[in-house]
Amino acid sequence: MSRPAVFLDRDGVVIEDVSYLDTIDRLALFPWTIDTIRALNRAELPVVVVTNQSGVARGFFTEAFVDEVHRALDARLRAGGARIDAFYYCPHHPDGSVAEYARSCDCRKPACGLIDRAARDLDLDPARSFVVGDKWSDIEMARAAGARGVLVETKTSGVPPPRHVTADAVTENLAAAASWILENLRSGDRVIGDRPSPI
Ligand SMILES: [Mg+2]
Ligand SMILES: [Zn+2]
Repeated sequence: MSRPAVFLDRDGVVIEDVSYLDTIDRLALFPWTIDTIRALNRAELPVVVVTNQSGVARGFFTEAFVDEVHRALDARLRAGGARIDAFYYCPHHPDGSVAEYARSCDCRKPACGLIDRAARDLDLDPARSFVVGDKWSDIEMARAAGARGVLVETKTSGVPPPRHVTADAVTENLAAAASWILENLRSGDRVIGDRPSPI
């Protein structure tokens, strides 16, 4: 039976958005990242990163480097007892300079190809899942996939949403977003005993 999951944008949600992370030494987790992901793990919600990495298409870094970043991030999380279940990224961009990646695709957010792929691979149910992102394109992806979208309000402060796009919740950071998600899990998706159930 398909499970609900939490899909996390990477840059600006799990790690600081340094604009095209291209060296490992610029990888910086937020102070709340490890504790928050561990709380999601405890609730038995698969945690899946879905991220646009057009720096590959732009020739700023390679796919091998993106994988290296994800291994380094994974190591830091594991050292703190937290786990990301899978990483999915889009390396494309229509205006890219690397021919192999310079195209439109169905996996660059706001399209939901990454969620579709993860749902197939990991047997997840997007309709019972959540997306946390710091751009309206993350929320548009949630809508396209039929998931609920929680906006972390850093990038979007003062930026009006595209027409007809609304977030299910707007929060300060990933920690607050995860609290909202754990409170808004459907009763059937809640791990018994994880936290007091509302009456
Ligand atoms: Mg982001
Ligand atoms: Zn793509």
